[in-house]
Amino acid sequence: MTMITVIAAVLALAAPANAAATLRAVRQITTPATTRLIVELSETAQYHLQRVAAHPEAGVPARLYVDLVGTHLANASSLPNEFGEGPLLRLRATQAPASTTRLILDVPGLTEFGAFPMLDPFRLVIDVRGAPRAAAHPRALSAAEPRTAALELPETTERRTAAPVPQARKRLKIVLDPGHGGKDPGAIGAGGVAEKDVTLAIARRLQVRLASAGDLDVILTRDDDRFVALEERTARANREQADLFVSIHTNGSTNDTLSGVETYYLNNTNDRATIRLAEMENGLRRMTGRDGRDREASLILSDLIQSYKIRESVDFAGEVQHAVVDTLNAQQAVVNDLGVKRGPFYVLVGAGMPCVLVEVSFLTHPIEGARLAQGAYQESIAAGLSRGIRRFVENTRMAENL
Ligand SMILES: [Zn+2]
Repeated sequence: MTMITVIAAVLALAAPANAAATLRAVRQITTPATTRLIVELSETAQYHLQRVAAHPEAGVPARLYVDLVGTHLANASSLPNEFGEGPLLRLRATQAPASTTRLILDVPGLTEFGAFPMLDPFRLVIDVRGAPRAAAHPRALSAAEPRTAALELPETTERRTAAPVPQARKRLKIVLDPGHGGKDPGAIGAGGVAEKDVTLAIARRLQVRLASAGDLDVILTRDDDRFVALEERTARANREQADLFVSIHTNGSTNDTLSGVETYYLNNTNDRATIRLAEMENGLRRMTGRDGRDREASLILSDLIQSYKIRESVDFAGEVQHAVVDTLNAQQAVVNDLGVKRGPFYVLVGAGMPCVLVEVSFLTHPIEGARLAQGAYQESIAAGLSRGIRRFVENTRMAENL
């Protein structure tokens, strides 16, 4: 089942109204089902997305217009023109009146689209999803090619199920995403501990636990202290055709009495605290907030954000949340169960698999922050995450066998 992804967001202009932003470059990340364009601009700019229906009689495919207000194109030849097997067929740019650059995306099999802005430098990430164009020309199986796939299951499988022989289990791939990294420390704890170090430590411990049974492939979006842009993280999971995506974070607040565990799935919300948290996690607001230098850019979310696999993501979030809270309660100390929530976290946008973002505890809480720096606490969080992921995997496998 497919759902429409519509993300409308407007960034306030940080630059004077008459200063035109320059569209510097467009990068792409393409998988068979998705094309992600990353439009780099010299300044923040307002943007609008508009879907235009196909006109088959005129030979015009479905299109997406992306209007970038108050911008001009540095060099039209800098636009990519080859999009592999992804759904995007062609990209053009026109200079519309009032200094608006219009990007025109031809996407013949367009099913979903969305966009979100990122800062430092300002860029607009545009996702289109649709039928892979390569699907229209399936690669012919050469006669000489051994058809090993058909031979993998022995003919006796059906008879053997009567005996207590475990069935071959589907190998699943899980992408773990340690939040932040490199120049982006994330939240900073009272003792100076950086979120980026805690999330990496937990992700590594979790990887060891999950991989130990040998039936899961576990990939980290980063395995050292390096910066990885948010838009690259989900794209990696899509490229890997992962079955699950888990983004690991520690919470931060200017209110240092806040503590506990909460797990998010992607959706819009009116909850102010969540929006503030999402702005921080999305790099649109400083994590500490104490220096009073909040970005001029403020995110206004409207319309609906929907995700692929949203129902599964809600279930997944529930398993993860309960398991982490139960494990911390049993092994460490009683923690606040802040529950499963929805929030507009960019790192989850465009993921083609069940995906959650876990705020494993508050780094800014004096006690929790100190615990987060300890190996034993990190190990308990990893144990809880592992249990939650395992439960969801087993439930999914059971449901698929039925
Ligand atoms: Zn974070």
